[in-house]
Amino acid sequence: MIAGDTRIYVSLKKLGENLDALSKLVGNNVAIMAVVKANAYGHGAKEVAPVLLSHGASYLAVARLEEALEIRKSFPDAPLFVLGYTPDYLLKTAVQNDITLTVFSYSQAMILSEAAREFEKTAKVHLKVETGFNRLGTDDINELLKICEVENVCKEGIYSHLALKDRASDEIQLERFLNIVNDLQDKGYTFKYRHIADSISAVDYPDFRLDMIRPGAVLYGMKSYEDEEFKVKPIMSMQTKIARLRAIKEGEGVGYDFEFCADRDMKIATLPFGYADGYPRALGGKSYVTIRGKKCSLIGIMCMDQCVADVTDVDDVQVGDTVIIYGDGSDNTLSVEEAAKLAKCNKNEILCRLTSRPVRIYEE
Ligand SMILES: *Cc1c(COP(=O)(O)O)cnc(C)c1O
Repeated sequence: MIAGDTRIYVSLKKLGENLDALSKLVGNNVAIMAVVKANAYGHGAKEVAPVLLSHGASYLAVARLEEALEIRKSFPDAPLFVLGYTPDYLLKTAVQNDITLTVFSYSQAMILSEAAREFEKTAKVHLKVETGFNRLGTDDINELLKICEVENVCKEGIYSHLALKDRASDEIQLERFLNIVNDLQDKGYTFKYRHIADSISAVDYPDFRLDMIRPGAVLYGMKSYEDEEFKVKPIMSMQTKIARLRAIKEGEGVGYDFEFCADRDMKIATLPFGYADGYPRALGGKSYVTIRGKKCSLIGIMCMDQCVADVTDVDDVQVGDTVIIYGDGSDNTLSVEEAAKLAKCNKNEILCRLTSRPVRIYEE
């Protein structure tokens, strides 16, 4: 694919370093299920996957079976896990492609058992336990016991997910989870992987790490955890180049609805990125880009493919100058974290909404 001016640079080296740092923090006895859903939070699942595996991830996790099948095409042997619900009619496809599923109903376990028999395979699942998040899973011990008894289905793991409201409520969830795990153990069922921690809890709550953690955001350098000692680096920067420069007079409008009106003579730059690249439309007129080390306010309404920045104060600005859209926050650049605050969303949303249009450039 030809790379145009608007690009996303992804450092695979920093990704590997982030995973190494996390592995070191949690130690050898905790397996890592690296979360690569939503195209690896916008970074590109296919490119990110081999780095995570070679740095020791035991599993790659996605939200839906479709995503797993896409990764499977490039990585025939990678251990792949689906965190979300898989509808009945796709269960067979999952077994055929050796994809480990989230299961919390006996009826689905039976469909998997049947498919496993047909393909002469063993279906692999992790049981999902409802501990109060009220999204997926079951807290019905009889249902879980019935699933445990199903043949041809390997119950490799058992897990739950935290609401992360505060430490006290997270502890209640952990306790509910471990109670159910213990009840099953009393009946003779044990699991290779018990897991409940995402990025934040994996870093901040050592006692929640159990046998496995499921980090996503932290691998991509997002710091939502509180631990001040533990450091990861953002791995992505988005950049473009100035397409046009123009001098405008006080009183002239810029863009749709003339939402912006110049209150002085100014110099403006047209930039070839917009909300169709995944930049939040809500940031039109509210954020900035960085040109020659200077913050330049975005002015007017964010268009689908273009926007305009105020470059009045940038000395010697030229068409073709590099424009930093998202940086690591240093040198006057807009970090993903700051963008999320300005757009009133979260960091993961800023990342995963990045579309396929800006070409990804991978740096080793
Ligand atoms: C997305 C997801 C994760 C990873 O979350 P991060 O906050 O990005 O670490 C972990 N577990 C489940 C069930 C998820 O859906």
